[in-house]
Parts: sequence; C-alpha cells; structure tokens
Amino acid sequence: MKERGWKKDVTPYFVFCCFKCNNYSLVKTTQKRKKCLRCGHFHIVTQLESTSEVIKGATAARKRLIELQNSLSLKETGRLPDFSADGDYSISNSSNFDNIYSNKELTKYDFFKMVLRKLDQRFKRFPEHVIYMLAEDHGISKEKVKRFIDICFREGFLKKTQEDLFYIQK
Ligand SMILES: [Zn+2]
Repeated sequence: MKERGWKKDVTPYFVFCCFKCNNYSLVKTTQKRKKCLRCGHFHIVTQLESTSEVIKGATAARKRLIELQNSLSLKETGRLPDFSADGDYSISNSSNFDNIYSNKELTKYDFFKMVLRKLDQRFKRFPEHVIYMLAEDHGISKEKVKRFIDICFREGFLKKTQEDLFYIQK
C-alpha cells in the first residue's frame, strides 16, 4: 500500500513583530522577504532570526501569532483585537496590563529591548530622550527606562557614540 494521507506539519516559521508598526506576522524561515500586511514594510527574513520565535507547523505558528497579537493589543489599547472573521474572539475588558509583562514570553525588559530594536531599525543612531519618549509611550516608567538602559549597557546590547547617540551592538 502506498504511504499517503496526513503528515505532521513541521515546517518552521518565524513569528515576528514588525519594528515599524508593531504588528505580528509569520513567515516560513526559508522565505527571502516578507511584507508586513499592515504597514507594507519589507522584512528580510534572515534578519528576523534574532528577534523571532521559531514555531514548527503552520497551525501552531498561527496560534502563537494570535496569542502575541492579543498581548500586544491588550497592552496598547486594553482590548483584544476583534478577529470577527474567525468569530472566536471577543473584546476583553481586562485592564491588568501587568499580567502581560509577567508573561514569560515578554518581560518588561524584553519589551524595552524590542522598543530599542524598533528605534534602531528606524534611526540607527538615536539620542537618549527619544528612548525615554518611546518607552514611556509604551507604558515603561522613567525609573525603569533608566535602569533598563544601565542593564543594556552592562550587557553590551546598547552602545554610545562620541556624540552621545545610542545604537545597538550588532
Ligand atoms: Zn508593519
């Protein structure tokens, strides 16, 4: 008898956050480029590796994508996105944003680094006040930003030019 039928899908996908618009997308790791469906930004797939989660199988990747998108939406608006096309999602009234940060997948520090990567993607070199501005826009307090910047320096993630501009060590 011929071997046929259902086969477990183990195709690896990157689930990643668009630095430009913060929208989550997924892409096969073997693909070259991926256009963000929300803002149209073209991502070079090999550059997504360090900031992506690798999920095996299209269904699992899609599930993870929705989880991340939910977290993000909850964080930014206090509401879950309305996936009305799927019909399975309802708006949550939860306003406990701290739960998102205690989530193992995305600590507040990880989130801060994500903000820095977003800055890096857009500006390459950026002054300190822009870090504060953007981080505070995303609900990170001044005290935390200061501490996170220190940690980033100690880790070597963040560097400074002679002109006092920050950049991310590649
Ligand atoms: Zn985008």
